[in-house]
Amino acid sequence: MMASSIDTTADGPRIVIIGAGPTGLAAGYRLRELGYTNFVVLEARHKVGGLASSETSPNGFIYDIGGHVLFSHYPYFDRLFDRLMGDEYQELLRESWVWMFDRFLPYPFQNNIKFLPKDVVLECLLGLIEAQKEPLDKSRFENFEELILGVFGRGIAKHFMMPYNFKVWAHPPRLMNKEWIGERVATPPIERVLGNVILDREDVSWGPNATFKYPRYGGTGELFCRMRPYVEDQLRLCSAVASVDLKHKRVCLRDGRTEPYDVLLSTMPLDILVTSLVGEVPDCVRTQAARLRHSGSYIVGVGIEQECPSAKCWMYFPEDNCPFYRLTYLSNYSPDVVPDATSQYSILAEISHSVHKPVSRATVVDDPGFDQYSNDQRGGSRLHRGRVSHRARLHLPDAVAGARRGTERRTAVARGARHLFARPLRRVAVRGGEHGSLRRAGRGVGEPHTARRSRERVDVAG
Ligand SMILES: Cc1cc2nc3c(=O)[nH]c(=O)nc-3n(C[C@H](O)[C@H](O)[C@H](O)COP(=O)(O)OP(=O)(O)OC[C@H]3O[C@@H](n4cnc5c(N)ncnc54)[C@H](O)[C@@H]3O)c2cc1C
Repeated sequence: MMASSIDTTADGPRIVIIGAGPTGLAAGYRLRELGYTNFVVLEARHKVGGLASSETSPNGFIYDIGGHVLFSHYPYFDRLFDRLMGDEYQELLRESWVWMFDRFLPYPFQNNIKFLPKDVVLECLLGLIEAQKEPLDKSRFENFEELILGVFGRGIAKHFMMPYNFKVWAHPPRLMNKEWIGERVATPPIERVLGNVILDREDVSWGPNATFKYPRYGGTGELFCRMRPYVEDQLRLCSAVASVDLKHKRVCLRDGRTEPYDVLLSTMPLDILVTSLVGEVPDCVRTQAARLRHSGSYIVGVGIEQECPSAKCWMYFPEDNCPFYRLTYLSNYSPDVVPDATSQYSILAEISHSVHKPVSRATVVDDPGFDQYSNDQRGGSRLHRGRVSHRARLHLPDAVAGARRGTERRTAVARGARHLFARPLRRVAVRGGEHGSLRRAGRGVGEPHTARRSRERVDVAG
């Protein structure tokens, strides 16, 4: 939004922003920066940050709602980050790995197939050569599955791209469009992949998130908490929008209040927004909105009474022998997300679900896959050897947990050391996939950043 397009008088058009997640907050922040005050931000929850907020367990462990890392290509965002965070952040190098065939290989998978069994390497290479015989023309692909096969070939598709993407998005890739893939998936040229195999080269530098930032205190959500004061006068928490009256240009809240608008900026899920519209809505809009799909995720936070046994940031699990598609050593991002990092650490596990991939909320926390991770695959990981830290019951507010029609209203329950966060995600075909990054600082603010890579094959094992 350009400054010149804004009427900075109090009589300017009244703007209503739905949602105080990163997008809604940032819009409010920018309006205030431009000197504009005739707007409100309506947020269903009691706090800001949306999907990028953080939750604190009763005994002081901070968990993000899924592993989040910050990286940007925008100087404006970088300046804003600096302004809000000062030097209270960690700058980390990505230390991410893929667990398959009973071993870790460095992320991204497609650049590091040399770590696989030889017959699988051959299968992947032959598939890639076949796929890249013709110049890459993404316009010939109809959907994500076709793109995977056309870009990576049958071997990489079979062993990683298809199972992993199904596990993340809880939808078969053929039901997803290909546009969102953008910069988020490495599409390495055949020369590079072959070179890595033949020259025995480890290739870990790819990607927009090879380095990333993380708030020192308060988890990912801290960044957005620090934006809040800039929009405090306009912020209306616990203000869930029930419907939008197009004819009278007003937003109706669940508690009966209404807010008139001249300009509406919505960050609530698009499919729900469209079903909330009262008035004349073109058929094509309703039809297209009804075609949007979403998946949900269970986020299980584990607090462990032991010093962290690993230097990793996060690990991908494409195989179907464990429930999670990603584990994050969250306390490696900042030691301050646990009460005492010298004797405690924390892990986030992400488990997606949908009609295509049902997961029982009642049993997800106790899924034997967690133990399999620690016992079978790691030869006895210390993941569960540490004494469990706490028992807690955490609730996600209804606004998040029950917002979606057809998505079960959930009460978050934690058993043992695990906290369960459950909320719907509407991200299929809209948002893309790899969230990742490198490694723990374990250092004080302002201390030099070390970029060590851990090369051990199974460093989670004791
Ligand atoms: C598991 C996971 C990992 C991620 N990792 C990364 C990462 O590493 N790096 C990164 O940059 N991004 C990451 N993201 C993406 C990031 O979380 C989102 O891009 C970001 O939160 C989007 O912000 P938003 O404000 O558009 O939407 P949201 O965060 O969804 O915020 C929408 C807000 O609207 C509110 N709302 C909804 N309905 C209503 C209603 N009816 N009335 C009023 N308010 C309403 C919600 O409560 C919420 O606060 C990740 C996302 C997930 C799920």
